[in-house]
Amino acid sequence: MLGGTHKQQLVGVNLAEAGVMLKTTCPRCREAMELPDEKRGLPIRCPHCQAAFRAPEGENQAATGGGGGAADAVLVVATYVGFGGLLLTAALLAWRMYGGAVPIPTSALIGALVIPMAVIMASWYGKGRTSQPHLVWVSRVAAYLWLLALVALLTRIV
Ligand SMILES: [Zn+2]
Repeated sequence: MLGGTHKQQLVGVNLAEAGVMLKTTCPRCREAMELPDEKRGLPIRCPHCQAAFRAPEGENQAATGGGGGAADAVLVVATYVGFGGLLLTAALLAWRMYGGAVPIPTSALIGALVIPMAVIMASWYGKGRTSQPHLVWVSRVAAYLWLLALVALLTRIV
């Protein structure tokens, strides 16, 4: 009997926690917040720092546990790769313009076209999933400029 009552109490507590309010943490400013339960899994905006992110689907978990964290990581890597490649290619282009020989074979440069394309695809993946939407266009701009620089480099070589 006692065991039964105890079990009922536990279930009662769980139902109360899962009830009207959904507790989550902003992935950017780490501020804890409570949301109406119907916001579950929907895009929301942090009332403290205005960051856009997706409310968790499950019970009272941090928003970073979902796709937001993974998408953020993908976009950060894509942004670094995009700007790194752009800078490197711009340096090669400048070197070539001043009459230097490009130390990378043409075939490798053609192969390198795949990387900015992968960055663009990563930005599409991150769109709508990330808590840092500005990284979507930042990485995309870097990738397009990098593609442009690579093509410029290739057309001057071939
Ligand atoms: Zn916030």
